[in-house]
Amino acid sequence: MTDHDVIIIGGGPAGMSALIWCHSLGLRGVLLEQSPELGGQMLEMFHRVLDYPGLIAENGRELRDHFAAQLGLLQLDYRTGRKIEEVDLSQRRARCGGEWLQGRGVIIATGARKRRLNIPGEERFEIRGVSFSATRDHSLYAGKKVSVIGGGDSAVQNSLLLASICPSVTLIHRSDRYRARPDWLKQAQENPRITIIDNAEAKAIEGGERVERLIVEDTRTGEIKTIDTEGVFIRVGVTPNTEMLRGQIELDDAGFIKTDQRQKTSVEMVYAAGDVSRPACLSVATAVGQGAISAKDIAISLI
Ligand code: NAP
Repeated sequence: MTDHDVIIIGGGPAGMSALIWCHSLGLRGVLLEQSPELGGQMLEMFHRVLDYPGLIAENGRELRDHFAAQLGLLQLDYRTGRKIEEVDLSQRRARCGGEWLQGRGVIIATGARKRRLNIPGEERFEIRGVSFSATRDHSLYAGKKVSVIGGGDSAVQNSLLLASICPSVTLIHRSDRYRARPDWLKQAQENPRITIIDNAEAKAIEGGERVERLIVEDTRTGEIKTIDTEGVFIRVGVTPNTEMLRGQIELDDAGFIKTDQRQKTSVEMVYAAGDVSRPACLSVATAVGQGAISAKDIAISLI
């Protein structure tokens, strides 16, 4: 068993910030990341990052490189490719590579992943017409007829981006209440290349070698419609990475960790930071702030 002041689970922006802040507050922190590299969802940001104050980056990976360089410069203890085998939050310990690590505090920064529809064809056609990111894949669909599913900022932003290179974009949303910011939605409604279908639930993605059709059901009438399409972009929000923690900590209805203003969870000396704690604004900037708050509160509690 090895002892640390703080065990940080997850190497996205919240976890990396927490580790930096542990260092500056005089705490011995260790960060465990299951992927082979640091970054979390930053590695899936394929657009230019202009909303992270103080740094402009060509994409999330470049922003991640700045974070990682800081961890290296400060010689902080982060371990990648370390999948947690077991956690015991009440005892503030985690097992990794057969070894138990003991903390005085724990910061959970496991983030979230893109939600899937779990409908027939979604998995089968992945990379053959089904995409989860227009910012990454849009150039593959230039000149094609495509569809986007979702009603939030991501779906509407993806639709606008695709409309700049595709002759026809169909935006499909399961209700007529949009979470997307109104000015983006207005732009989509006024774009002659974008057709919006409200109150429609995607039921199946069909085709041969590649995607050819999307089957949707009108949620009010039950009528089934077929939309001819060569690409389906699925942007229906995110789901938290909390499966491993179920039964040990209080979660909300959607599985996100409940926290107070200091990022404290329902378990003594266990904190949650970043997307896993359902911040009001899902962003790198928010995650970084919450990582700092968690480390600071642990430091105060340990005095
Ligand atoms: P979101 O805001 O959570 O919206 C998800 C959308 O998908 C909702 O319209 C939701 O419908 C729908 N949905 C969820 N599950 C579904 C299902 N099983 N079948 C069909 N539809 C489903 O997610 P998001 O658009 O990915 O955005 C996530 C966060 O990132 C937000 O905070 C957003 O503001 C932010 N964001 C910011 C930017 C930017 O600033 N540049 C760009 C993109 C995203 P219901 O409303 O019916 O639940």
